[in-house]
Amino acid sequence: MDHTHIVIGGGTYGCFTALILAERFPGARILVVEEEADLMRRASYNNQARVHNGYHYPRSVLTALRSRVNAPRFAAEFGDAIYADFAQYYAISRHRSNVTAGQFEQFCRRIGAELKPAPLAVRRLFDEDFVEAVFWVREYAFDAVKLRARLRERLDASGIEVLTRYSAVKLAVEEAGRRFRVELRNLESGETEQRRAAWVYNCTYSRLNEILASGGFETVRLKHEATEMALIEVPPELRGIGITVMCGPFFSLMPFPPEGLVALSHVSYTPHYEWRDDPAGGWSVPHRPAFPLQSWFDRMRRDAARYVPALRECRYVRSLWEVKTVLPESGANDSRPILFKRDSSAPNLISLLGGKIDNIFDLADVLPGPEDDQLPARAAPAVAALREG
Ligand SMILES: Cc1cc2nc3c(=O)[nH]c(=O)nc-3n(C[C@H](O)[C@H](O)[C@H](O)COP(=O)(O)OP(=O)(O)OC[C@H]3O[C@@H](n4cnc5c(N)ncnc54)[C@H](O)[C@@H]3O)c2cc1C
Repeated sequence: MDHTHIVIGGGTYGCFTALILAERFPGARILVVEEEADLMRRASYNNQARVHNGYHYPRSVLTALRSRVNAPRFAAEFGDAIYADFAQYYAISRHRSNVTAGQFEQFCRRIGAELKPAPLAVRRLFDEDFVEAVFWVREYAFDAVKLRARLRERLDASGIEVLTRYSAVKLAVEEAGRRFRVELRNLESGETEQRRAAWVYNCTYSRLNEILASGGFETVRLKHEATEMALIEVPPELRGIGITVMCGPFFSLMPFPPEGLVALSHVSYTPHYEWRDDPAGGWSVPHRPAFPLQSWFDRMRRDAARYVPALRECRYVRSLWEVKTVLPESGANDSRPILFKRDSSAPNLISLLGGKIDNIFDLADVLPGPEDDQLPARAAPAVAALREG
């Protein structure tokens, strides 16, 4: 029997999309296809685990304001996946920063985000020659393993079928765009099978264009980075705190709850290199970085220790490697919009790209409901909406 909806990609976005659809289309057959051995093993795990609360985006007030709405919602809905057992500090660099301490304070007031001067003991962890001011802020981390468990429970309770270790390898339209055929490869046996659905949701993050190109659909402009975050153990004086140095080519320290470690990332050294998918240049063979690359942990530590000297004593454990995908527009102002794109020839094919975890709540505004189901596929308008998130 055909499915009503097939969601390709079992990350946070694919799972949340499936859950919204289950609510909107009672009784619909929904399938989530994920190529890893479990849900949420890719970007939804390999990230900095920050539940953005606005502070990070002085250059994109819209993204900051959406974060102020979505972060508390995320905390309320996924309470036990929230990790709040640390104090979060934002430090303002004296050199090469896009904001001064005064501007940062003003920005936080403008977006209604709480902050106060860091206590002296914390201030002393920073080299004054490099850091103008340090603020305590209210911002949390999330535990991707606990989030996965919560999403999995909800998927099961909603009767959504989940296939792991299956890769969607080809997408085709049938019946003039009214129905899709998705070719799946079982990664254990190597065999392929066909599944059909009225709607397909492409939630593959860095691989959106691979899916689109497999069926000859129009691709989208995307920027990708091959990223590294170092998981480390910090010396005693840095335990229980998070640090973000603003606003430019600096570093962050965030708790990484699933492994009880700390993630060190650096604006200059976390991205090893970048590439772009540009439909204008034609679609070519997709690039997959040869992870793990040669680690840049030493560069991250050397630079970060200029600001926080105690970091010289941190211990490297391993690196998280992931492709980070953003819209090319995001580079200019650091915004994190959500991409929602309906294919112009087959509007029931929807591609979604979320810039950060808490933006999942914006999906409710863009996903279809039963009223859209009544539209003949060709009459539905092609919508390519960029929503600030
Ligand atoms: C280095 C880095 C740091 C980040 N830091 C933060 C942060 O601190 N806070 C924050 O909110 N966000 C952060 N982000 C962004 C955040 O990780 C992403 O916005 C989010 O994880 C996207 O979720 P997703 O479900 O779209 O992607 P994913 O979790 O990658 O899910 C896509 C899924 O699709 C599957 N897939 C792909 N192709 C196929 C196929 N053909 N067949 C079947 N399955 C397929 C993949 O295996 C994967 O599981 C960061 C990202 C990176 C890379």
